[in-house]
Amino acid sequence: MPSADVSTIAGRIADIRSSIARACERAGREAAEVTLIGVTKTFTVDDVDEAIAAGLEDFGENRAQELLPKVEEASRRRLHARWHFIGHLQRNKVRDVLPHIVALHSLDSLRLAATIESEAERTGLERLRCYIEVNVAEEASKEGVPPAELPGLLSSLAVLPHLEVAGLMTVAPQVSDAEQVRPVFRALRELASANGLRGLSMGMSEDYAVAIEEGATVVRVGRALFGPRV
Ligand SMILES: *Cc1c(COP(=O)(O)O)cnc(C)c1O
Repeated sequence: MPSADVSTIAGRIADIRSSIARACERAGREAAEVTLIGVTKTFTVDDVDEAIAAGLEDFGENRAQELLPKVEEASRRRLHARWHFIGHLQRNKVRDVLPHIVALHSLDSLRLAATIESEAERTGLERLRCYIEVNVAEEASKEGVPPAELPGLLSSLAVLPHLEVAGLMTVAPQVSDAEQVRPVFRALRELASANGLRGLSMGMSEDYAVAIEEGATVVRVGRALFGPRV
């Protein structure tokens, strides 16, 4: 395996892609099943530009206040980025954010879903791909629905034509050893499969390889790709 020059964004993308491929191989999966999202919060549009030049297409932001100026600058520079919203989305930001994103990874309430539905209906937008954020480890500090509430939420969402439930998402607890969060990823996969869902948005800089071994279809990687956040 040739090692990439990890002092550049392009080199780190190559490095991450090869770890993704190795994790897929260990799990008997195809690397094409896994989408890499570059999480650009706190990073610049120059970084987005460099990542696009290195072949990355998907980018994630967790706050509307940061997403919107970046989208504007990226589009002014004619950069073709696909934006994913990955943080808690306030209902009063739906109108601004919705036209710019290809997916929402953090659907966490029926009220938010209803706001998205009526806004998409009003403006004639396509169906929005959504991942329901689940608080698998039931941490008090975390966003996301408790696992027990998932079936009820799914049946309420089923009648909203402008939402497509692509799968589930979780943010694993921060631990020193990624192996410690394997049970969280496994629990999310089991929950998805019990509810007939295929998409799994899970895994970040420290633990994406473990997440892929446990079935992640989308990994959201910031620091490992763009460098330390200041
Ligand atoms: C910041 C963030 C990430 C990426 O985290 P890194 O540790 O920088 O890889 C992934 N998902 C969400 C929801 C985030 O807020």
